[in-house]
Amino acid sequence: MPSDSSLAAAREVLRRTFGHNDFRGLQSGVIGEALAGRSAMAVLPTGGGKSLCYQIPMLLRPGLGLVVSPLIALMADQVAALQQAGVAAARLDSNATMDERSDTWRRIADGTLDILYMSPEGLMSGATLDRLSNHQIALVAIDEAHCVSQWGHDFRPEYRTLGRLAEVFPDVPRLAVTATADARTRDDIRSELRLLDAREFVDSFARPELQLSAERKDGPVPARVEALVRARPGRSGVIYAGSRAGVEKLAERLADIGVPAYAYHAGLDKNLRHQRLTRFLQEDGAVMVATIAFGMGIDKPDVRYVIHADPPASMEAYWQEVGRAGRDGLPAEGITLYGAGDIAWALRRIDEREIAPEVKQVQVRKARQLYAMLDGMDCRAAAVRRYFGEEGVGPCGQCDLCVTPPATHDATKAAQMALSAVHRLGGRYGRGRVIDHLLGKTKDVHPNEAGLSTYGVGGALSAVEWRTLIDQLLFDGLLREDPNDGRPLMALGDAEAVRAVYRSERPVAVRAHAAPKARSERPARPSPILDEPLEIQGLFAALRAWRKDQAALQKVPPYVIFHDKTLLDIARARPTTLAALGHASGVGQGKLDRYGAAVLEVVKAA
Ligand code: ADP
Ligand code: ZN
Repeated sequence: MPSDSSLAAAREVLRRTFGHNDFRGLQSGVIGEALAGRSAMAVLPTGGGKSLCYQIPMLLRPGLGLVVSPLIALMADQVAALQQAGVAAARLDSNATMDERSDTWRRIADGTLDILYMSPEGLMSGATLDRLSNHQIALVAIDEAHCVSQWGHDFRPEYRTLGRLAEVFPDVPRLAVTATADARTRDDIRSELRLLDAREFVDSFARPELQLSAERKDGPVPARVEALVRARPGRSGVIYAGSRAGVEKLAERLADIGVPAYAYHAGLDKNLRHQRLTRFLQEDGAVMVATIAFGMGIDKPDVRYVIHADPPASMEAYWQEVGRAGRDGLPAEGITLYGAGDIAWALRRIDEREIAPEVKQVQVRKARQLYAMLDGMDCRAAAVRRYFGEEGVGPCGQCDLCVTPPATHDATKAAQMALSAVHRLGGRYGRGRVIDHLLGKTKDVHPNEAGLSTYGVGGALSAVEWRTLIDQLLFDGLLREDPNDGRPLMALGDAEAVRAVYRSERPVAVRAHAAPKARSERPARPSPILDEPLEIQGLFAALRAWRKDQAALQKVPPYVIFHDKTLLDIARARPTTLAALGHASGVGQGKLDRYGAAVLEVVKAA
């Protein structure tokens, strides 16, 4: 156990340098482990304060702290934020000039640098490791550690080389941190990074500030996305779309209605991408429309919503992507649009991959679990948390399904008819033809088909109701769609599950129709700022304007100076003294020295 005095010192750094009053969740446990010189693995939710878990021990233990991070953008942000707080931090990456490099090495040599960020390939290159092994190292932190696992969605082969750090720095504690890792991924992290004896800290995956919802695509997606964005004016958001063309079109459409929206995908020129990223980070209320090329390491804290115009690839991806909303702890939303075509496409993609069959199987199961959550009828947040292995999880009380539980009815009989029809039609037809068959409306029906016992048995449901049910059977894996070059054919899904439905051992419940209409009228979540009394809103706006000028002057994103949450705290408290200002969350000594007087001026003038 770490001594009380070392934890007291850690708390002092938390207060003085970072401006926070107390540790959150498992932070103190993880920090205690590192301070005692032991390695650890920490799985904390997005926004849970992972970075402080290694930054604070790096400031307290003698020597240089090394942080391995997968993306330059992420490093740049973290280093800028640390420098704002008065911490001696730097990064060594391929963008650094010769002068910057030699300056960094000089600071390492004379012991004035506390924290160094690097990419895995940068750190593991022979020359760098050699040079570093001549210096005292305080702690090695491996951020986004799930990248080491091929089960996850962010697999980075370079991460696997990090296991060698155990030999290169045998006496230095190592800390692996991530926001998303199911049990299998955690095992991978342990074995690949040689952390078999490390203590494991796994926090709850609850994100109480994040309100989740999902809806089936039941009309043109761009129009729906536009409506969702219109209902959230002035808020910063991220919209994920499945294709580059989709991204471009959506961004254009939003720009046409006056939303500061930017398209971002891997097909764009690097400079253009960088320019758009900078705009998104620096403009208040900007919206990024992107493929998944955009994301990891984007730590913009005031993203108020994430919309999936097309569904994510897995539960891990979902949680990471929606997790980019509300990192500052203020209310935020995650909204997902999905359709039966999406799951068919996802399964096909997995099938086409050149990967080992057992990896394929895992990925298929993961895709199914994602759709089971999206199309499910019970609390979404609870489904995600259970997926990540949390036990004893209760409903969140705020997702769409908790707020408006969908009316459902038993459709086991109808499901049996549909499965049986697909079976008898022998996988030769698409969905429309199966429905015609059930309704007994097949055009120019062949006598053989008309003679089948399932022909025309489905008159009790409308074509629309059949369509909804068949979608659901697809989501449940009871039916599957074979692509057949774009003219998909229906076939039976998982044989065991199908048998269970035939035997009425597995009930099939469906949403009562008309649910989609009710959902689309659900109002946007109130903005965290617009709920405040007018004078607080006014001061908040003034503080934001001041922050914007500061950010432009220093060429850093505004949130690196102060988070919205900090500005809101200040606007509510209207401090008149430096001491009072220091109580606002996120105002440490460094920022108080630097900005205190100016902020008090803004408060006074407003
Ligand atoms: P993540 O776990 O996603 O990497 P960060 O380390 O970026 O999270 O922290 C998320 C936010 O929470 C930051 O704004 C950080 O300043 C804040 N934070 C971290 N620890 C605390 C704490 N103990 N008390 C209050 N705020 C904290
Ligand atoms: Zn819920």
